[in-house]
Amino acid sequence: MIRRALLTVLLGLAACTGPVKLDNEQVSNRGAGKDNWWDALPRQAWSRYPRVAQSQDWFEVYRVAPGVLAIYEPGQFEEVISYLITGSERALLFDTGLGIGDMRALVDKLTPLPVTVVNSHSHYDHIGGNHAFDRVLAVDHAYTLERSGGLAHDRVAEAVGPGWIWKKTPPGFDAGQYRIEGYSASGILEDGMKIDLGVRVLEVLLTPGHAPDALCLFDAGNRLLFTGDTFYPAPLYTHLPGSDFEAYANSANRLAGYAGRVDWLMTAHNEPAVDPVYLGGLARAFEAIADGSASFVMTDGNREYPFEGFSIITP
Ligand SMILES: [Zn+2]
Repeated sequence: MIRRALLTVLLGLAACTGPVKLDNEQVSNRGAGKDNWWDALPRQAWSRYPRVAQSQDWFEVYRVAPGVLAIYEPGQFEEVISYLITGSERALLFDTGLGIGDMRALVDKLTPLPVTVVNSHSHYDHIGGNHAFDRVLAVDHAYTLERSGGLAHDRVAEAVGPGWIWKKTPPGFDAGQYRIEGYSASGILEDGMKIDLGVRVLEVLLTPGHAPDALCLFDAGNRLLFTGDTFYPAPLYTHLPGSDFEAYANSANRLAGYAGRVDWLMTAHNEPAVDPVYLGGLARAFEAIADGSASFVMTDGNREYPFEGFSIITP
């Protein structure tokens, strides 16, 4: 109860809009588990990894695999995770977060290597820091292009409103002005393309479904699959504008073939590394929804299908 009371105070401070209802009606359309989402923090999974010291309170940085730093933003509902993946010559930043903290300044502290940005997809919580980087590789898709123009305040204001943020935001951050800055892509990503970081090679797998431009990065040499929002251990979204159930099911089928080739799925929300057994589970889940054998509950007017360790939301 003490923790809850404290967090309520923090919520009020962060949002500066007065007390927040604990049933959190402000976060909608995001499946079960949205009420008091901050009660899940700190998540046990993170305690397995050494924390990397840095100066921005907004971020938490953990060494989650050799040459892989997870950059976690637990202060906002999405609990988004970006990854700094380093080779011997170059580094790749897989997603740039919410644009609340200064991702560029953080990355400059974490690596001396030249950094290329790749986004798992173009939702606001993955492209927030893109504008600060010189080299961004992007999918050649109308959706990506449109969102590279930036997202005005009215398109993202909800995400920094009451119920969405519990942690103190960085000095100078103004929720009333929050927007996603536009950026320019410096190169095109294609399916099967290999990005050589020196010693480490990442293969691009286009996996549309959650978003039209969703992709995963396959690190064969280190047996890692960076899944973005295509898989994480929480409600998965096929119901957002631009989402496509059929495409997602096809992508899940494709990824199931990678289960035996990786040791960890490096996901973009909540927890960094989960068992690849979920890839088979994801493909079977889509099949069960498609053939009508899966059961669902209604959340916020959508169908939410619960499975072991995750759920799938459909319109
Ligand atoms: Zn997303």
